[in-house]
Amino acid sequence: MIVLLLSLCLTIRFGLFVPEKKDLTVLMYHKVSTSQKDALTVTTRQLEKQLQHLQALGYNTVTGKQAIDFIEKNEPLPPNPLLVTFDDGYVDTLELAYPLLQQYQVKATIFLPSADIQQTNTANQSVLSVEQLRTMDLNLVEFALHTHTHCDFKKASLKDMQHELLENMRFFKENELPYAPVFAYPYGARPKHKAALVDMKNLMNELGVKMAFRIGNRINNLPLKDIYEVQRLDVRGTDSFWEFKTKLKKRKKYNVNWTIANMGKTLSLLNLNYSFLRKRSKPTFN
Ligand SMILES: [Zn+2]
Repeated sequence: MIVLLLSLCLTIRFGLFVPEKKDLTVLMYHKVSTSQKDALTVTTRQLEKQLQHLQALGYNTVTGKQAIDFIEKNEPLPPNPLLVTFDDGYVDTLELAYPLLQQYQVKATIFLPSADIQQTNTANQSVLSVEQLRTMDLNLVEFALHTHTHCDFKKASLKDMQHELLENMRFFKENELPYAPVFAYPYGARPKHKAALVDMKNLMNELGVKMAFRIGNRINNLPLKDIYEVQRLDVRGTDSFWEFKTKLKKRKKYNVNWTIANMGKTLSLLNLNYSFLRKRSKPTFN
């Protein structure tokens, strides 16, 4: 009993063994600017420093498609998989973020609200046009669903949700733009009541949506517990670099499975040492 308690304490206190990293980190960006920073906007300098840091830590960027293949066909993901996502299709995603993605060979998923893309015009352009989307290298970026009108799913009816997702998909098909059937909830918002949440997830399943991303500021354990509740880390321009680094560590601290597995390892180590000491302390009679 004492050994068991000692093992539990050592495992939790010191994390005696480095866990095998089986998790999926997802970063959420919105706007990029050369000078301005706010909750939704990072500067190009911040973004570059963050991408350099992610490379130094050995993260491997993956696409939503790769994550789907992992879920559906068990196709392995590279070690330390990371999804970099940009919401809303701002022009600066192409003009400022994209050159850095190319430079550092970072894959990214861009969630597009199609009505905004359709309405964009060169006179007052804040979001990307279809023509601009076509210029991007699809080996590096993928496009994905973000509803048609940036609809708040916390307030929408099931019928509205269906319309929003179908219109979003129709936009990609009509413009012959390939997209990954993964979805980011605008505002991270989902229905509050459980029955409505279940209905929404059933609807997404029927429509062929394979994964949905919310904001949660946690790192996802693999395999995913719920493919429609994938959490993203909200990267803010107002965060210091230290805060960014801290967010990357936000995995569930005391994952039960991990603790049990590592307790086993700690126990066997303690047991080995105990047997070794007993052997050593045995009197020898020559
Ligand atoms: Zn959005």
